[in-house]
Amino acid sequence: MTHSEDPNPTLNALAGHYKSIIHLLGEDPEREGLLKTPERVAKAMQFLTKGYDESPEEVLASAMFLEEGYKQMVIVKDIDFFSLCEHHLLPFFGKAHVAYIPNKYITGLSKIPRVVDIFARRLQIQERMTLQIKECIQKTLNPLGVMVVIEAQHMCMQMRGVSKQNSLTTTSDFTGFFQQAKTREEFMNLIKK
Ligand SMILES: [Zn+2]
Repeated sequence: MTHSEDPNPTLNALAGHYKSIIHLLGEDPEREGLLKTPERVAKAMQFLTKGYDESPEEVLASAMFLEEGYKQMVIVKDIDFFSLCEHHLLPFFGKAHVAYIPNKYITGLSKIPRVVDIFARRLQIQERMTLQIKECIQKTLNPLGVMVVIEAQHMCMQMRGVSKQNSLTTTSDFTGFFQQAKTREEFMNLIKK
């Protein structure tokens, strides 16, 4: 063979580890239903953590434009996201709501969900994800204020019986104008179902 080099060494190494894990969990990785599982899991995990290779700042900046007149709140709500908790590698998922008050610059509305997605597709904790989305928008668009609210269900709590089924964990973080309770209230009222 002239091309003996492994085209995807990381994927194959991951698959090898998952094969060991399946065996250590007491299963037979050679039985038919599990034969392709290590490779499938490796691919799934690479997809679920692909946010490491993407720059959320670049995504925002790519559609940033000058809009001096608009000083009202821009809200993108009910952004679905799926992440993995870094303590158990189990999913946590839910909705993110983002608001900012422009200071000359705005960004394309579709870019905010992209930013949420990039931070979600990393090993995360909900509190840090909330903070990172806030900081990314503050740093890139330099708005008069930004606020992020995340509501999520954590499978590591629900599946292990640590908390009641369907209980939601809510986190929020904000800067600038959102330090005023009135501004936060306006946003919270607008995202209510
Ligand atoms: Zn966890």
